Amino acid sequence: MANYQVDVLIQGFPGRSICHGGLGWSTVSLIRGQGRTILLDVGAFGMRGPLKKRLHEFGLEPKDITDVILTHAHYDHMVNYILFPQATIWIGDTELTWAAKQAPGFNPLPELYVQQLNQSAHVRRIQAPSEFLPFLHCFLVPGHTPGHLLFVLDNGASDVIFTGDAAKNRAELMSKKVIDTANVSESADSIDLIFEKWRSKPKNILIPGHDLSMQLDENDCPVYLGKRADSLMVWFSEKIESSGLIDLNVAQSMSQDNH
Ligand SMILES: [Zn+2]
Repeated sequence: MANYQVDVLIQGFPGRSICHGGLGWSTVSLIRGQGRTILLDVGAFGMRGPLKKRLHEFGLEPKDITDVILTHAHYDHMVNYILFPQATIWIGDTELTWAAKQAPGFNPLPELYVQQLNQSAHVRRIQAPSEFLPFLHCFLVPGHTPGHLLFVLDNGASDVIFTGDAAKNRAELMSKKVIDTANVSESADSIDLIFEKWRSKPKNILIPGHDLSMQLDENDCPVYLGKRADSLMVWFSEKIESSGLIDLNVAQSMSQDNH
């Protein structure tokens, strides 16, 4: 019996800016048990302040993190591995091998961080499928990136499933379509595998890369756990002291083709 404690430190957000591209607001999870203190994905630069604050809320310092597990090599999930120099960094062998071969491009790969990781003595390259840590299983879910990994934590009566960007949000899970995939059919197959793992026990929890955690109801429909909570603080006035808040929990209905 694993008896891991799983907490979401930073809740991912399912959105992007129209003019400024991906927000990079990804999920960061804390997994504690079996003598380890693990971060699963570590977020983007803008998240460093909130991440430090959340670690402190759990009585943790960066040196306490024993392992960092990365779903894939995109900047918004991985650059902060560098803040945990004592940790073992786990990433898929296929993913790191692919990412290290890419020339700098207009994509979310942080080229220099990938190169550093590729040469780091702290890296352990995961072969999938495998149980690479006690009760922690990984599976290859290509599409979004070629070596993206799905993680399933066997926690006894229920599992916790970490999808990263193989399925970023509930809309992708329910429609089985992934925005920003390098391979549409591979992504669809990967979502099928995610649902197979999700259905394996009735109370399994799914933690996606850019959305709230979810469970499946009796009709096989994903339902959110908890509430979304985020706002933008903005300075639209003439005074630095008077900022405004834009609530990000209300969406206008909009349909679009995602080409
Ligand atoms: Zn990504």
